[in-house]
Amino acid sequence: MDNDMDNELGKLLKGNERYLMQQQCAKNFECMSKQKPFAIIVTCSDSRVVPELIFDVNIGELFVIRIAGNVVGNDVLGSIEYAVKYLHVPLIVVLGHEGCGAVNAVWDTSPCEHANKDNIRHILKKIKKPVNKVKEKDGNIGDAIIENVKEQITTIMTKSPICAEFVDKNKLTIIGMIYSISNGGITIIPNTNTDKSLTHADFVDTKKAAPQVTQIKTLKN
Ligand SMILES: [Zn+2]
Repeated sequence: MDNDMDNELGKLLKGNERYLMQQQCAKNFECMSKQKPFAIIVTCSDSRVVPELIFDVNIGELFVIRIAGNVVGNDVLGSIEYAVKYLHVPLIVVLGHEGCGAVNAVWDTSPCEHANKDNIRHILKKIKKPVNKVKEKDGNIGDAIIENVKEQITTIMTKSPICAEFVDKNKLTIIGMIYSISNGGITIIPNTNTDKSLTHADFVDTKKAAPQVTQIKTLKN
């Protein structure tokens, strides 16, 4: 991935900046015969997390996989691999979010409460490990949301030989991000970027963050 703001990551960050500033691009609703998305977004089903809006993109630009808690299981891995191998998408973002109900459910509930209940347990058990890890270190729910993103990236890298191979060949970058429900901004999680030539500071200008927060308050009103 080139280290500039014209690459796939740069497009997402610039799109989020437009979203925050309420300067969204005009959308193109033309029917496309083929899709050519530039990024795969693995995120939560939470109705407040809408990647196409958050990143201000057109139809056909994002390959979005939404599942409660942004957990990665076999079906999600299959969807990711399809996009990587056959659509040649060079970027995967695992996007967690502030106030995630799935992570919160594991955080607040004893494991046995979900043991024999409905199918929700299949999702929650994938979040148990990162939550326990954070609790052992006396962390908070925000840390658990971040740790859950890291855990799902680890799953992609360890359970998908295709993704691991594409990362090794520098054809694929995987990055963890958190979306803030309260201010609309996204933050790259440090040390989740599989492309070691890119750092958090390359893309996130913390000095610019403050006015963006002010802008989103206007957006919400
Ligand atoms: Zn969620």
